[in-house]
Amino acid sequence: MSNKTQEILSVYKKNVMPTYAPSVVISSGKGVTVRDADGLTLYDFTSGIGVHNVGYSNANVVEAIQNQAAKLTHSSNLFANEPSTRLAEKLVSLSGLGGKVFFANSGAEANEAAIKLARKWGSANGGRYEIVTMRQGFHGRTLATVAATAQAWCQEGYDPLPVGFAYADYNDLESVKAAVNEKTVAIMLEAVQGEGGVTPATEEFMKGVRALCDDKNLLMICDEVQAGMGRTGTWFAWQGYGVEPDMFTLAKALADGIPMGALVTNAKLADTFTLSAHASTFGGNPVAAAAALAVIEVIESKGLLAKAVEIGTLFKEALQSFVDKYDKLLEVRGKGMMLGLVVDAEAKEIVEALKNQGLLALTAGANVVRFLPPLVLKEEDLEEAIDMIDDALDCVFGEE
Ligand SMILES: *Cc1c(COP(=O)(O)O)cnc(C)c1O
Repeated sequence: MSNKTQEILSVYKKNVMPTYAPSVVISSGKGVTVRDADGLTLYDFTSGIGVHNVGYSNANVVEAIQNQAAKLTHSSNLFANEPSTRLAEKLVSLSGLGGKVFFANSGAEANEAAIKLARKWGSANGGRYEIVTMRQGFHGRTLATVAATAQAWCQEGYDPLPVGFAYADYNDLESVKAAVNEKTVAIMLEAVQGEGGVTPATEEFMKGVRALCDDKNLLMICDEVQAGMGRTGTWFAWQGYGVEPDMFTLAKALADGIPMGALVTNAKLADTFTLSAHASTFGGNPVAAAAALAVIEVIESKGLLAKAVEIGTLFKEALQSFVDKYDKLLEVRGKGMMLGLVVDAEAKEIVEALKNQGLLALTAGANVVRFLPPLVLKEEDLEEAIDMIDDALDCVFGEE
């Protein structure tokens, strides 16, 4: 760690609350790499936690942001703006659900909107309010989304949490059925659990949840904040399962790092939020919306849905070869460019070794190393990254 990094981190430690513990200072990014404060280049296989699906500083996105910033950065939702209106039209069309969009500013807020909408609908449909969520799921850090996140580390110290949530085991339909009662209004889940360990739902489970919702008149809510926007090879991960949710949420990759969240519904729920029923000062911000429209154009023009599958398959095969090589590596999981390496070790130790080789990765719980590379990753960069991963694993486990 040299001077500039050390200097910034020491100011950080004095002034920023210690909810994170960064050891790298990022000063710029281009494509699949970032540069730290001292000019060192690193591969970013976190994409800023699933945000830069089209790569850092994509020229089209940068241009869209600059042009829109010069024209109008904000006008409030008392007035419409063209970028967010066009974006709503585009998201409705990509979803194929025939509904409408509510814009928020983050994943937690988009999920908060989904929870409120489910309750609004439930209040008029049998006075129901309870939402079943999945253990190991993750839905955000506001009080309601923490209550929806059935993980102790997220909830500790925040009692009393909002009521109205029940928990079930992921990929276990019987457990979900057992959690449903006369108060239940919705089932909320990720099609691929991100923070909870990079675990994809089985097709049987997703179809079973949909059938259960149809049978009991419940709403199916998909949290696509991490898996959405092409990461798993379809626009939204639920599209890979042959089921349609009643609503789903987006954020992370939606606007390439300009804060933006969205709730997208089907036709049935399109007008459940009536005039003044919900609101956000910044929601649908025109700069964020212009960025999101550019992101969608780049994904379309570069064929990134197919690329996520293609390069994700190569990456998965390489990780699988490491599982075959090292006893301490147990399994590779995930879909497309959302991959997890399950280890019989401390995942953070491996993430640290990867960083020392020049590659940024994430953990997902204590025992999963999570990779969320930009979808624009080229084969030659993947090959170089795989060598770095091999070297890092050698450092941690020794040559085998
Ligand atoms: C990151 C994440 C959230 C929370 O998003 P924020 O923008 O941090 O509020 C919610 N759900 C999932 C699945 C996520 O990965």
